[in-house]
Amino acid sequence: MKVAIVGGGVVGLTTALQLQRELRNAEVCVFASDFDRTVSHVAAGIFRVGSSYSGPTEQITREWIRDSYEYYDDIRKSPDASFAGVTSISGYMFANSSPETVKSHWIENLVPIYRQASEEEFQLVGGSWKYGSFLTTLLTNCKLYLPWARRKLQETGTKLTIKKLDSLTELIPEWNLIINCTGLGARSLCNDRRLVSIRGQVIKVKAPWMKTFFYGELDTYIIPGFNGVVTLGGSRSFHSENMNLCPYESMAIRDRCEKLVPALKKASVLREEVGLRPHRENNVRVEAEHIINGLSKAIVIHNYGHSGYGVCTAPGTAKYAVQLAKEMHKSSIAKL
Ligand SMILES: Cc1cc2nc3c(=O)[nH]c(=O)nc-3n(C[C@H](O)[C@H](O)[C@H](O)COP(=O)(O)OP(=O)(O)OC[C@H]3O[C@@H](n4cnc5c(N)ncnc54)[C@H](O)[C@@H]3O)c2cc1C
Repeated sequence: MKVAIVGGGVVGLTTALQLQRELRNAEVCVFASDFDRTVSHVAAGIFRVGSSYSGPTEQITREWIRDSYEYYDDIRKSPDASFAGVTSISGYMFANSSPETVKSHWIENLVPIYRQASEEEFQLVGGSWKYGSFLTTLLTNCKLYLPWARRKLQETGTKLTIKKLDSLTELIPEWNLIINCTGLGARSLCNDRRLVSIRGQVIKVKAPWMKTFFYGELDTYIIPGFNGVVTLGGSRSFHSENMNLCPYESMAIRDRCEKLVPALKKASVLREEVGLRPHRENNVRVEAEHIINGLSKAIVIHNYGHSGYGVCTAPGTAKYAVQLAKEMHKSSIAKL
């Protein structure tokens, strides 16, 4: 079987790894217009799934999230953890507007610790907060995970090719099974008007003393990563595709983060980054269809639209997409 995966971000590469596990004899190639500058590279990579995240049903969404957590937790427990950039992390979420803001119905029964913050813990940060949670979860740094995934794929014979596609039909007839993991790129490839960008800007600072993450309101977050690099965020601008850094946003992010954790005032800036989250109205798209080019056809499995939760949920949707691919392939052989 020949399988083309389109997309070299966290969703495409994780799907390719899953495919390699499940279909050992398949000839696999990952095509991407870019492997080094993707939205995935910008993400802090915390495993925290917002209530707006949705698959086709509640049960399938829970499966995706549980499978994803298990996937990263297995890496965390393996000797590969530091190479793959996966670690455990604990921290706090604080809010004033509603107690729901510090809850997560998707992960509160999945992660090892998820509890209310105590009175003393409210004193750890600046500001006066009404609601607070403490949780232990996982973090995946894509700047380590993506190169690790690429190495693993190449070691086992998967090809990686830089190529921008104007249409998925360009891959027919050479490839008869295509998995489409193009994130926001799927908007034009699939003419999917439900896919919109949510622009986000972050500041990376050097603050090796920060070991705990903090979330406040107005999309404020402080997430320690590897090697003393801490992500300060953030912003969410629907439909904006402006990739330029906005200095006013930077000032606002810094101000909100320093009010939450005043010690950050002494943290020096390493760089600032912008990314466009691939947000799909209603749900992430993981589904199959047939496409045709002349007399030839191919099966396409779509796997895109993970919004602000693509790092943490990629393994679950990858597993589901590969399962769909296997079923579709089997039924197409049965029809011959
Ligand atoms: C500021 C910010 C913070 C975030 N924080 C988190 C977080 O903490 N946790 C979390 O889980 N998520 C987070 N996210 C969201 C996460 O980054 C995305 O959900 C995820 O990266 C989407 O991955 P993807 O592989 O679908 O897309 P991408 O990473 O964009 O990859 C798409 C790939 O498809 C390729 N492609 C596109 N079009 C074509 C084409 N026509 N032909 C060939 N190749 C094509 C691209 O070159 C690229 O390789 C954050 C996002 C931002 C912006």
